[in-house]
Amino acid sequence: MTTLQPTPPTTTALPALAARVRAARSSVIRDLLALTERPGVISFAGGLPAPELFDLDGARASFAAVLADDGPRALQYSPTEGDRALRAAVAARCTERGLPTDGADVIITTGSQQGLNLLATALVDPGDVVLVESPSYLAALQCFALAGARLVPVPSGEDGIDVDALADLAARLAPKLLYTVPTFQNPTGRTLDLANRRAVVAVAEQHGFRVLEDDPYAELRYSGEPVLPLAALTEPGRVVSTGSFSKILAPGLRLGWVRTDPSLRAGVVVAKQAADLHTSTVDQAAAAHYLASGRLDAAVARTRAEYRRRRDALLAGLPAALPAGSRWTSPDGGMFVWATLPAGWDTTALLPRALEHDVAYVPGAPFFPTDPEPATLRLSFTTYGPDAIAEGTRRLAAVFAS
Ligand code: PMP
Repeated sequence: MTTLQPTPPTTTALPALAARVRAARSSVIRDLLALTERPGVISFAGGLPAPELFDLDGARASFAAVLADDGPRALQYSPTEGDRALRAAVAARCTERGLPTDGADVIITTGSQQGLNLLATALVDPGDVVLVESPSYLAALQCFALAGARLVPVPSGEDGIDVDALADLAARLAPKLLYTVPTFQNPTGRTLDLANRRAVVAVAEQHGFRVLEDDPYAELRYSGEPVLPLAALTEPGRVVSTGSFSKILAPGLRLGWVRTDPSLRAGVVVAKQAADLHTSTVDQAAAAHYLASGRLDAAVARTRAEYRRRRDALLAGLPAALPAGSRWTSPDGGMFVWATLPAGWDTTALLPRALEHDVAYVPGAPFFPTDPEPATLRLSFTTYGPDAIAEGTRRLAAVFAS
């Protein structure tokens, strides 16, 4: 009888991981944030949509319908660009928001995070300059860094990106791309006004770079008037946008999109083929069915009304919670408030003390591509109801008083 012999031990060293992964920053803060999930902690850190607002009945009905009506198709491989009906529905929503869009311009992605990654692959060569807001959405910075980009921060203030600084950097560095979240930005909650949007696209036109407009929050507006997307203010192709169902429907579906023009479409499709062939067929079909059922607008309206109350609860609690001399944003929508404490405070050093008080936030430092500001922090207001938010701000007050 033959017995299987164990594989002899390897005698040569294993090759190192790719340099781009080795260079990626691993964060101490991530380890600390894992502790914020401990029961009893009121966490303003996570940025999670409120699960009790998910339209479970609607989701159940749509998944049941697509499996009953055409189950084999829903479980089969499908085109890389995405489900035709879902692309058309996304295009119709963009068009309603003032951005005329054809279904052919839309590529469905596995969350908008994948859209960012595909665009980094399709657009960025190693060494290319990518301009980013400072502070900016961390996971987008990772996509560009992994593609080998040279990330250059553009200063951003109360009104969003500083357009004069942008023009100056563009003239000196010949960037390939500007990455921006112009509406209810992550992490600041700030929105760029129409005049500044026109100025940003004018700089892009003049200096010949593209703009990536990352726009997952625009439908979560609680006050003020909608502002046209950057992509609606310039010629086709200058601005490529990413959007998402994560904040208006459910993040676990992992459904987002890239809105592009023919000059970029083939590049994004090739990158997506290499990444995952296509986004889940059944999830796309269920989402298309859900949109066709007309339930989404009512669900978004409920979410907006509830998040408005939560934002107001957080803003009401902050004056007593934060040290004298602190400043913070009052966003018209989205999920985040950004606070700046007086010079000398270090929110990273304070996070363990916050956890002792069963409350958490995200320190602002990691959102800065360079030169972190230690006295900043991000607070998300969507996860808990107003009472828990009020209790959370009382705990924050104890953290900053002790
Ligand atoms: N862009 C921004 C600015 C975000 O805040 C997020 C999620 N936090 C994403 C993109 C990615 O979202 P998703 O992949 O769920 O669509």
